[in-house]
Amino acid sequence: MSRKKIAAANWKMNLSYTEASTLLDQLLEVCPTNAINKIICAPFPYLHLCSEKIAGRIDFSVGAQDCSAHAKGAYTGETSAAMITSCGASYVIVGHSERRTYHRESSEHLLGKIHQAFSANLNVIFCIGEVLAQRKAGEHKDVVVNQLLEVLSGLGKEHISKLTLAYEPVWAIGTGETATPEQAQEMHAIIRNQMNAMFGDEGGQVAILYGGSCNAKNAKELFACNDVDGGLIGGASLIADDFATITTSF
Ligand code: PEP
Repeated sequence: MSRKKIAAANWKMNLSYTEASTLLDQLLEVCPTNAINKIICAPFPYLHLCSEKIAGRIDFSVGAQDCSAHAKGAYTGETSAAMITSCGASYVIVGHSERRTYHRESSEHLLGKIHQAFSANLNVIFCIGEVLAQRKAGEHKDVVVNQLLEVLSGLGKEHISKLTLAYEPVWAIGTGETATPEQAQEMHAIIRNQMNAMFGDEGGQVAILYGGSCNAKNAKELFACNDVDGGLIGGASLIADDFATITTSF
């Protein structure tokens, strides 16, 4: 079984409704129909629009950028996994560093979100990665392995087919400073070994995306690494031609 190749766009809290609509039209035009899974992770209010627009393009999927750790009820301002599914989306990002930092999301909370996502039949893109101080202190490998252990130990093997990982060194997100292919490969190999140890062969087949200032210029050398199966792209996913170039950089 060969691993999935994925280019996932994380639009974050950018774009008006009209701008999102225009960008998706452009993406559908400029991204070639190929075997690369293109996942558009849009703000909640645009999920339905995006799902309608991608209908008929099997190489495109829509994802949310977060979901609630609760199924339903009195949680003002939250969006449940089931709501995301009902808007036609099939993916959700969980554990993005911006949410871990600004919303202090704990491992236990993240596991709750992942369980809700799987219950609602969503695929999960689970993000992990070290901050700069941890890398400088030589702790990055342990940090990432612990992030996997703390959250994914709560999952069974039956969930693995709906899981994608994104290794995103926090010091590279939105900074213009990208991990070198050597740094990315080293960490992806460690993550793959850990997944193998936790879930066997199937764990080792989980797609692992690189995220952190990945762009049209550097995607090719990053995606050429053995254990890099694609990218989670922030800034460069807001420019249709750049994202299209990234989808052809495999
Ligand atoms: C991200 O938001 O996951 C990300 C990698 O952002 P950027 O590509 O802008 O660094």
